Parts: sequence; C-alpha cells; structure tokens
Amino acid sequence: MEERNAGKKTTYGKVLGSFKMKCPFCGGDMVVTETQYDVPGMGPVIIVNKVCTKCGYRRNDVIPLRSEGHKRIYYKVEGERDYEAKVIRSPYARIKIPELGLEMEPGIDAEMFVTNIEGILRMFIDAAERIRAMEGGEETEEERRLREKVEHLGGGFTVVIDDREGLSKIENADRRKLLVEEVDGAKSG
Ligand SMILES: [Zn+2]
Repeated sequence: MEERNAGKKTTYGKVLGSFKMKCPFCGGDMVVTETQYDVPGMGPVIIVNKVCTKCGYRRNDVIPLRSEGHKRIYYKVEGERDYEAKVIRSPYARIKIPELGLEMEPGIDAEMFVTNIEGILRMFIDAAERIRAMEGGEETEEERRLREKVEHLGGGFTVVIDDREGLSKIENADRRKLLVEEVDGAKSG
C-alpha cells in the first residue's frame, strides 16, 4: 500500500503523508493520503484521498497549487471527429452546453478528470437518468436531444468549460474550433 511510503516517488506522484481519522459515516478507520501530482498542462496539484477501511467510502479532493485565473473554454462540436477531443476538467469547472440547455455545476465531490467530448455528453445523460430515477417522470426534451447527439455523433453545439482557476484544458482538438477566453483580463505570459 502506498499510504505508508511517505516521501516515496511513484509514477503516480509523490506521497506527502498519510494519517488515520474516524470515518464520519460509520466510525471506522479512514485512511487519508496526500499525494502531490504533476499534471501535464495543469502544474502541481495535491490529491487528498480518503478511504474508509470499514464501509468503503472513498473520496478524492484535488487542490491545485497554482491558479491560471478565471478562464472560459469554448469548443464547437461539428461532427464525429470532435467527439475525440480530450477534455481535462478541473474540480472548479462548470460545464455548459448552451444549445442543449445543459449546465453542470462543479459539485463539492468533483474530482479532476480526463474524458472526451463524448464522455461529457454521457455525464449529462447519467445525471439526467439519476434525477429521473429519484424523482420519476418522463424523459425530457433535453435528454432526448442529448441522447440523439451521442448516438449519431452529431454536431451543432458548443461545450463551454467555465473554470475559475483556469486549470481545465481541451487537447487533441481542432484549434479552429477552440476558443480560450481569459475572463479576468489578460494575464502575462
Ligand atoms: Zn466508513
């Protein structure tokens, strides 16, 4: 197990330390490990990983050690190829697809994650399904349109990543369809 190897460098990052706390849910032993990672294009981040050895609860919090300032990334999705664009979303990013009436807040449990445009759309579908499972009701018009887009890899919408720390990125993208706006004004460099 990594949590006892404080200071050890692994391919996954440098373990800064590890300690135990009481699980807030079941009272069992919860192991908290802090690891520093260097995320390409994002710089250093600290990941605080909590795992309960009794009930299995786990959670990752990502704390970036650097902020790039508030940025908004726009990616115009026109067709199949755009679905391959790689999306690196920081836990501070809100994702919007204005044409489909979709918006996702950066929840408190949000982890940094790497996906692609298809993965983003599927995330919205999963969220819609979860809401429907809890509250019942019919498939909404937004959900139906979203599903149709994913099934046919159809375009005609913009993915907007609004990141107050400016750490999110879109890679492997058609540069002509990508726009990065610095919301707080220009930064140097
Ligand atoms: Zn527990």
